[in-house]
Order: sequence, then structure tokens, then C-alpha cells
Amino acid sequence: MMESEIEEASRIIAESDYAVVFTGAGVSAESGIPTFRGKDGLWTKYDPEEVASIYGFRRNPKAFWNFSRELMVKMKAKPNPAHYAIAELEKLGIVRAVITQNVDMLHQMAGSKNVLELHGSMEYVDCLDCGRTYRWEFIEKMLEEGLEIRCKCGSEYVKPRVVLFGEPLPSDVLSRAIEESKRCDTFIVIGSSLVVYPAASLPFHAKNSGAKLIIINTEESQADSIFDVVIYGRAGEIMPEIVKRVKKLRGIT
Ligand code: NAD
Ligand code: ZN
Repeated sequence: MMESEIEEASRIIAESDYAVVFTGAGVSAESGIPTFRGKDGLWTKYDPEEVASIYGFRRNPKAFWNFSRELMVKMKAKPNPAHYAIAELEKLGIVRAVITQNVDMLHQMAGSKNVLELHGSMEYVDCLDCGRTYRWEFIEKMLEEGLEIRCKCGSEYVKPRVVLFGEPLPSDVLSRAIEESKRCDTFIVIGSSLVVYPAASLPFHAKNSGAKLIIINTEESQADSIFDVVIYGRAGEIMPEIVKRVKKLRGIT
């Protein structure tokens, strides 16, 4: 492990009273959900324009749901030690918000309360023709049984409230994310390559407002050079170690 970086990150976090965590697909990798980019990424098998854009969805919702079925099997995933460690830092009053690009709801499952989902989530699924709304569990069951996803009205244009390529981000969530990034004293990125907008811009908001910046990733990101502490490693191993040290530094047993 990166001993001195982990120690430095722990010290910064122990001294923080307004930390914001920002996560990407990497935080859920150890829960079994594949990332999009990277060597085992889904984009090596699927064409994002086909399966994850709004144009692809309108052309062929079946391709989107076939893709989601593959992700979904993994979507039965449980939070991993990184999600729990983040939730624990919130309980300690250090982390005030979790901004995530993920749609898998694992932060909430782990106990995080103030979660800003920049790309929405799979929790609600709407029929674009008649307006009916379904809970994820209902759709999940249809996918498990190998059924074609259709609304009761017969439409196949049933879409989860996630942001597809070509769709705007929810502006209220985005503006709250920017506010939190400007307000925090410590900004912690976990498992994001920081290439997708606005992922790339949030650390800069934090930096320009004087926050300390920490990043934990298995690979280099676009923006490593602006971070005060860069840790290469698996989030599920690093984060519990950091929490252990933060508690020790704060005298919590
Ligand atoms: P990304 O751009 O966030 O990059 C993934 C990053 O995670 C990489 O930089 C890699 O270094 C890092 N990583 C991989 N395994 C890790 C681990 N065990 N510990 C720490 N870091 C690790 O993600 P992406 O895959 O390029 O996807 C882009 C968009 O799609 C994002 O919005 C992403 O959140 C979303 N997505 C969401 C899910 C999900 O909901 N679980 C899954 C795939 C993609
Ligand atoms: Zn309908």
C-alpha cells in the first residue's frame, strides 16, 4: 500500500469538518459492476452510441434493455467496504455530501444520506408514452425472467430516470454538486477517470475555493496533477484503512 499517501490523506480528513466525496464507476467495481472504460470496461464489448445514448434508446429500446440486463445481473450487487467507509465518514460528521455519477444506488444501500446522483438512478422507470411509473424491483423481475420490457399500455419506450448520452444533467442536482464542491474544505475523488463532464470540472471548483484534494483510483486520471494526495489502489481496501486512521487521529474507538 501507499503508506505515506494514506497517512497524509487520513490526516487531512481527520482535520476536515466539511468533506465532499465524489465517486465514479470505480467505487462499485469491487461490488462486481463493470466500469465503462478501462481494460475490462463495457465499452470494449458494447457501442455506447447504441446502448447508452438517448438516440440509441429511441431507435431501439430493446438494445438498451439487453445491455441493462447484463449490467443488471451485476446490479444485484451489494455495497462494498468503500461504500460503507464513506457512509461511516458521514456518520462521523466529516463527509457532508456524496456526489456520484453512478446509477446503482449502492451509496444509499450502504447508509449514505446526502447523495447527489448526477446521472440519476435506476430506482424509477417511466413509460414515455403513457406516463406510468414502475419501481426498479418490478422491472428487475421482468429482466430476470427474460421478459421483454414493455409497459402495460404496450409501449416499449420504458426508460429509467438515468441520464443517457445526449441528455442534459438534472440542473438542480448539478448546481447543488457545484455548491458543495465550492463549500467543502476537502474534496475526495474515488474511482473516477474524470473525463466525463462535469466530473472533470468539480475538483477544479473545490481547488479554486481552497479545498484540499485527494484522489483514489487504480489508474491515473486526467487531473492527477492538481491533487494534493494521489493514491493508486483499490477503493475497497484503501477507504477502510483511511477510516481506521481517521478514527484513531480523532481519538474515536
Ligand atoms: P469512470 O470514468 O468513473 O472511471 C472509472 C475509474 O475507476 C477509472 O479511473 C479506474 O482507475 C477506477 N477504478 C477501477 N476500479 C477501481 C477500484 N477497485 N478502486 C478504485 N478505483 C477503481 O467510469 P467509467 O467506467 O468511465 O464510466 C463513466 C460513466 O458511467 C460514469 O458516469 C460512471 O459512473 C457511469 N457508470 C456507472 C456505473 C454504476 O452505476 N455502477 C457502472 C459503469 C459506469
Ligand atoms: Zn405506457
